[in-house]
Amino acid sequence: MSMQEAALALQQLKQRIAEYDYHYYVLDAPLVSDSEYDGLYRQLVEIEQQYPELITADSPSQRVGGKALAAFESVQHRQAMLSLNNAFADDELEAFDRRVREGTGEAVVAYAVEPKFDGLAITLTYEHGLFVQGATRGDGYTGENVTHNLKTIRAIPSRLNIAQPPALLEVRGEVLMLKRDFEKLNQQQAAVKGKLFANPRNAAAGSLRQLDPHITAKRPLHFFAYGLGASIGVPELNTHSEAMQYLADLRFPVSDLRAVKIGAQGLREYYAEIGEKRHQLPFDIDGVVYKVNDFALQASLGFVSRAPRWAVAHKFPAEEATTIVEDISVQV
Ligand code: NAD
Repeated sequence: MSMQEAALALQQLKQRIAEYDYHYYVLDAPLVSDSEYDGLYRQLVEIEQQYPELITADSPSQRVGGKALAAFESVQHRQAMLSLNNAFADDELEAFDRRVREGTGEAVVAYAVEPKFDGLAITLTYEHGLFVQGATRGDGYTGENVTHNLKTIRAIPSRLNIAQPPALLEVRGEVLMLKRDFEKLNQQQAAVKGKLFANPRNAAAGSLRQLDPHITAKRPLHFFAYGLGASIGVPELNTHSEAMQYLADLRFPVSDLRAVKIGAQGLREYYAEIGEKRHQLPFDIDGVVYKVNDFALQASLGFVSRAPRWAVAHKFPAEEATTIVEDISVQV
């Protein structure tokens, strides 16, 4: 592909991805399946790798997807809420582990591993133990204030169950809808000729981003914590697994499928194990997430434009395509 052809292909891909992002992140009503979207995104990244001089600031590879709706008050995140790089194949998993070992100088690396919840990222702020604000990820820097809606989710503590709570605690996690609740909601919606949701993820996002908290209160939403944001006055935590245990002790829902695995072989085993359990789980997951467990090693690896270098989402193969709108390949 010549440079001119690459520039044209990138322009077309950016336009289509922007269109799909709008329907997915803003309207909560995707036009194409995630695997189709991931295919397009992949083409874009491959072309950008071949011609890095064509990377522009507005490229989806340089930014986090969502955009805060003006209808909500906006919230500036104290710490950016970034995305995750994806791995789809075994060799990409090997490459991730190799980059981590090279970047840290460690011979073998321990990873905290978790399911990748297919919901909506949020951040919860606690001041002196009291839940004071909750926000969506938005574009990673500015999110939507959905505090009132989050207060309707019973799994989210409104006060921390601890004698001396930290002055500040930000909890990062995912709001989702259980599969059985999603089926029920769509049946109810069909009965009143209301909007049907494409999948539990979109139902969760659509339910949380309601202007009227009374509607959210009627939607059965669940929450899983998967990390910490800014904090002041928390005990010393040296690893991600310690942070998750701390959150569990504070009574946040954390996945009991979390574990610590060693090296690429450990990651491969976890992927296979969770892949087998996937259909029995009461909620959708679209892969597993591997995070370098040691916070000091995470800090030494740092971030690239839109995602940390110390984590990767290993996606499961697509199950079924929802709507096939058009051929995804870009002709150049
Ligand atoms: P992502 O969903 O691939 O990964 C980042 C997100 O993973 C985080 O923001 C967090 O919300 C979530 N996550 C779940 N479990 C986690 C855990 N244990 N630890 C940390 N994070 C966890 O990235 P994204 O930027 O939110 O979205 C991109 C993906 O969304 C695409 O790969 C595609 O599948 C889908 N998408 C689809 C369409 C469409 O039209 N179908 C459009 C846009 C995006």
